[in-house]
Amino acid sequence: MGLASDGGLLVPQSIPDLRSRLKSLRGMSYNALAFEIMRHYIDDLSDKELVGLIDTSYATFDHEMITPLKSLDDFHVLELFHGPTLAFKDVALQFLGNLFEHILEGSDARLNILCATSGDTGSAAIAGIRGKARINIFVLYPTGKTSPLQERQMTTVLDDNVHNISLNGSFDDCQTLMKSVFSDLNFRDQYQLGAVNSVNWARILAQIVYYFSAWCQLDCPDRFNVAVPTGNFGNIFAGYLAKRMGLPIHRLILATNQNDILANFFNSGLYQRGDVHFTHSPAMDIQIASNFERYLFFEFEQATDKVTDFMNLFQSTGSANVNFNTKRHSEDFLAGAASNEETLQTIKWCYEKQDYLVDPHTAVGIHVGRQFSELGIPLVCLSTAHPAKFEGAMKTALPEVTVTHPILSELTDLPERKQQMEVDEQAVKDYLATRAD
Ligand SMILES: *Cc1c(COP(=O)(O)O)cnc(C)c1O
Repeated sequence: MGLASDGGLLVPQSIPDLRSRLKSLRGMSYNALAFEIMRHYIDDLSDKELVGLIDTSYATFDHEMITPLKSLDDFHVLELFHGPTLAFKDVALQFLGNLFEHILEGSDARLNILCATSGDTGSAAIAGIRGKARINIFVLYPTGKTSPLQERQMTTVLDDNVHNISLNGSFDDCQTLMKSVFSDLNFRDQYQLGAVNSVNWARILAQIVYYFSAWCQLDCPDRFNVAVPTGNFGNIFAGYLAKRMGLPIHRLILATNQNDILANFFNSGLYQRGDVHFTHSPAMDIQIASNFERYLFFEFEQATDKVTDFMNLFQSTGSANVNFNTKRHSEDFLAGAASNEETLQTIKWCYEKQDYLVDPHTAVGIHVGRQFSELGIPLVCLSTAHPAKFEGAMKTALPEVTVTHPILSELTDLPERKQQMEVDEQAVKDYLATRAD
């Protein structure tokens, strides 16, 4: 389930406390860790079913550690891009695809997923759903506005249950059209429409695991800091939950690009909408982070009326303020932003001084994370994509270097399938209706 039926977000009733079990996690494989963490949140799958889903989901990753930690001179990088589409979204969407299939199987139901994307989400969702029984996926993306590479990552998937729709419009048009289709309740119910966007709780759940994995790979230090490049607040919210479960994360360092509404919030308490800026880290070109409301719920000590007031005020005026219990909040988060120039410089610095290639999203996290480095406390920067996915920015930062990945190079010669359409709700519905199960 994406949104709850009242339009709010789903949250766990309580957060399990693993403090007394932390020591026993040392040395566990990624999959064993995933089971150990997820089982506390799941009461409708047997242990055997959950183990099976986890094993199937991470068998598609090309590294035995699933999310390996690389140690550089004075910080560490947790590589989250070893899944089939080379972005961290695979960690959650590989699991989600298998989970959906399993649940549908058990209830003899079907699902048609509708998704709007400007790039990374679409390919990761397709990779999670392709070939699954009882599920179709329909992806709307703006013609010519994703990178050619990102488009090929979607359109070269020829499974019968994958339907790419290239819309002659902007990303906003795609999103508006998708919302409009979802708001037609008759249509939604008739075709069992579902979503895979980043508010889906199962996605957050799967992402908690790699924070624990980072700690294990660091050899279980007393405390450590984690820098997270942030867009929709999904990734870092998983880190916040890991911290509340007892993982000794000292600071969560929130890093944004020029779209710095969240960085400003954590520095001032003021949450204020601005214009969207297009940057070298497009997956973070977001003003309104869809998972932020979940954080507010815990910040307001689970007072739902306060969350509603805050969100209503923000929706109607474009800004809202939190009177922080300053002490507690500043203990959890530090925040900063990186400009385009700083992003490119960080890519260059990592390559020249650390002999390590990072993508522009990861660079944003490293730039901000290193500003807050604290003596004696290990710093882990989350790497959210393989650099070869963002060839344009990489060429700008490092004109003399060619960054490739075999998975991406192979796409050039593969046949593609897509449907070109106008921004026309009825036409999209008709298309969906003839292909839905
Ligand atoms: C989606 C994405 C992000 C942002 O993650 P959130 O969970 O939305 O904060 C960062 N980097 C890359 C490469 C992404 O695809």
